Amino acid sequence: MTVYADNAATTKLSETALEKMLPFLKENYGNPSSLHTLGQKAKSDLENARETVANAINASFKEIYFTSGGSEADNQAIRTAASIGLRKGKNHIISSAFEHHAVLHTLTALKKEGFEITLVKVNDNGVINPKDIEKEITDKTCLVTIMTANNEIGTVQPVEEIGKICKKHGVLFHTDAVQAVGHIPVDVEKIGCDMLSASAHKFHGPKGVGFLYVRKGIILKNLIEGGAQERGKRAGTENLPAIIGMAAALKEAVDNLEENTKKVTEMRNILIDGLKGIERSRLNGDREKRLPGTVNMCFEGIEGESLLLLLDSKGICASSGSACTSGSLDPSHVLLAIGVPVEIAHGSLRLTVNEYNTKEEMEYIVKCVPEVVEHLRSFSPVWAKIKEEEK
Ligand SMILES: *Cc1c(COP(=O)(O)O)cnc(C)c1O
Repeated sequence: MTVYADNAATTKLSETALEKMLPFLKENYGNPSSLHTLGQKAKSDLENARETVANAINASFKEIYFTSGGSEADNQAIRTAASIGLRKGKNHIISSAFEHHAVLHTLTALKKEGFEITLVKVNDNGVINPKDIEKEITDKTCLVTIMTANNEIGTVQPVEEIGKICKKHGVLFHTDAVQAVGHIPVDVEKIGCDMLSASAHKFHGPKGVGFLYVRKGIILKNLIEGGAQERGKRAGTENLPAIIGMAAALKEAVDNLEENTKKVTEMRNILIDGLKGIERSRLNGDREKRLPGTVNMCFEGIEGESLLLLLDSKGICASSGSACTSGSLDPSHVLLAIGVPVEIAHGSLRLTVNEYNTKEEMEYIVKCVPEVVEHLRSFSPVWAKIKEEEK
């Protein structure tokens, strides 16, 4: 059996999206900036896609800017807020230690440019307390950037409360909603955010495309200069096939959200209930305040990498955390941020499932993981030491 349980890294392209994309890879190859019929057809399809994307998050089409993905959207949002801040003499940004690296590394770059960065603590349950953010706001603060849902442990953040706090203090609020869009209800009015990032390949769209929602009145700072595409804020001929695919995938996800949530939550619970009995294991992140399909657990006395390789040999595709950090031997910055001790953080397993998975697959995972953990522990000196100390 082959089980793909790494949907936080990327998802399978939806058939609906693929079908919608194909004509744009064949006959509809016009450039939306061209004045002839083929170009104008492309332009109108581009704008229809923008409308579809806007509707999915309760925005206006004028507030949607297409990007190459979540990373670009995060970079552009933060750079925009930073430059607006500078013009007003504000150089302080608030974020958290468990953000995606697209956010954290942009903040590191800004720090080198003279910005002051405050990373608020994340509680042990993987949820941020909005009051911890409010405490840090000063008259120098120009931006709060907090993710809607974490990509490693799946915890959902109180973004609506954070939005209210930011509004009260006149501070811009950006949220990386890459893991949330298409998986839980996302409404920019309810959240009250000024900017929001999303990425198509996390909701069964194609790779290399995403979008940035920017509230009306905020003027984006360009990362890429050139032509007048995206109202002059993101130059380069639009990746129309991908944009069409993203819009189709997002509409499909939002139209089926309720049904998918029910099915996926059930599967997630099979995983949690089936694995929590493993000796010296822990579930990372709040049991309830989490994405429907994300499970992250630690098993003491083993290395996450060995666990992944053995699971892979049984046909299970999983992850030890973020795809971006795999290959490095450092433990996950997310697990460390929620207070998991370094030695335990090394033995982490992230399983991310969605509506393309089945209950049978969950049962297979629940059968395989304990076997593999037991096998690895049988020759682990760390486990032997733990057992010795128990005596
Ligand atoms: C995947 C991901 C990103 C990056 O998106 P790309 O489209 O791959 O650049 C950013 N933030 C979060 C939370 C993610 O999960």
